[in-house]
Amino acid sequence: MMNKKIAIIGASVGGLLAAAKLQKQGFEVTIFEKGNAVGGLFSEVKTPFGQQELGMHVLYVNEEQRDFLGSIFGANSFDILKGTDVDIGGSYAFSKANFKSIYPKIENVEEQELAFREILENKSKPEKNSALGEITRRFGNFAGNQFVKPALEKLWLAAADELSAGALHCFFDLRRIVLADKANSDRLKQDSFLDSVIANPLQEKPAGSVFGGREGLVLKDERKDFNLLAKEWAEKSGVQLKFSKPAEVLNGKISISGKALSNDFHSCIVTTPTQTMFKETPKGLDQLELSIYYLKLQEKLGDSFPAYYMLCHDPSIKSSRIVNYEGYHKTKENQVATILSVEVLHEIGQQVSVEEIKSEVATVIKGVKVEEGHCFERKLKVCRPTLKNAEMLDNLQLDLQKKSPNFQQYFSGMRTDAGVFFSHQTIGMAYESALELIRKAS
Ligand SMILES: Cc1cc2nc3c(=O)[nH]c(=O)nc-3n(C[C@H](O)[C@H](O)[C@H](O)COP(=O)(O)OP(=O)(O)OC[C@H]3O[C@@H](n4cnc5c(N)ncnc54)[C@H](O)[C@@H]3O)c2cc1C
Repeated sequence: MMNKKIAIIGASVGGLLAAAKLQKQGFEVTIFEKGNAVGGLFSEVKTPFGQQELGMHVLYVNEEQRDFLGSIFGANSFDILKGTDVDIGGSYAFSKANFKSIYPKIENVEEQELAFREILENKSKPEKNSALGEITRRFGNFAGNQFVKPALEKLWLAAADELSAGALHCFFDLRRIVLADKANSDRLKQDSFLDSVIANPLQEKPAGSVFGGREGLVLKDERKDFNLLAKEWAEKSGVQLKFSKPAEVLNGKISISGKALSNDFHSCIVTTPTQTMFKETPKGLDQLELSIYYLKLQEKLGDSFPAYYMLCHDPSIKSSRIVNYEGYHKTKENQVATILSVEVLHEIGQQVSVEEIKSEVATVIKGVKVEEGHCFERKLKVCRPTLKNAEMLDNLQLDLQKKSPNFQQYFSGMRTDAGVFFSHQTIGMAYESALELIRKAS
């Protein structure tokens, strides 16, 4: 039946999960992947010191999604983080810290209480437009204006009144500013209202108990070849998985190999950011670049550094985030060298040298000795979450839909302007699209 033929663009976690759900409900699903492997941002990169994670370190899913992932990749491929550990990087006992903390934390206990009170008292709905209103709604006047606003402007290299509310939800753990330590962080995570305001920023359901009750999946080292497993799963389940098939917008329509998808499919779910399907970057779109550096250390960091730490608020520091894999992999007791990844958000073409990143990390983490550094030249483009970009991206999607009115298109790719960044948001949206298709068909 034509209304059961669905195309999915992108064979990463979002695309695979949506496909698994649809296929189980009797839909005919074809996944078109631009590259020659599954995984997208959840895959690995070859570095001089072995395979390293590319982007996503923790995958936030609900139980049903976790079971589907288990059936695709094997249930033993992941460690599962639950409860207040779900977002393990957001909980850290700073008393153990042995690094230069340049995060603008609220150190004073009375001021911390004031910040908490202000957050608790404000139960208004999320601000849809500018970041300015959303800053004070979520963080109160005191913490919002004095701490969060300057940090946000530094991260996105733009003024808060030009940024969209979504800017607050992305790539950035603003909670640390008001939480300052593990006790406060856990207090927040256990309070369903606070969790829904801060950890679950889009306030989608179900709210509460950390990221809307999701689990955190961390890849195990000893996992099998995901590409092979996904191919086997697709073959067994009857999902068509096609590689080297980039989707492109031609004459205003999403097409594969020059042919509009609307000719053969009833609907599609696009898991890559919409603008990436255009041959040329849409004019006027304001983008930043994300570079990733990998550093091999001479000694393990152990507990002296959290799973990740944002560093973007000191004008002299270029790194946006340092990720310590050890912090996620509680079980990697015997690992000799520790690998850090350093994510740097910068203007296009203004890459930072490996040497600069090495010395920056040595400044931040006391006594750390970096053995080797490597820059992964991915040059990932990220839209600056401005109000102007938000309008452009909305229009891009509306125009695609208008051009093919009978071909329903769902967009779940990363949209920093709309607060769609972390896996529970992007993957959650791809999955929601599948659920909506199922509802419509029944
Ligand atoms: C540096 C970094 C760190 C991150 N860390 C975390 C984290 O710790 N936790 C977390 O929850 N989230 C994190 N994220 C966000 C997370 O990676 C994304 O939310 C998630 O990967 C999105 O998954 P997805 O399946 O929706 O899309 P993606 O993983 O982006 O996959 C899209 C797929 O589409 C394919 N594709 C692209 N263009 C086309 C085309 N034209 N035609 C066909 N196929 C195409 C790609 O090859 C890819 O396979 C991070 C992101 C970055 C960049």
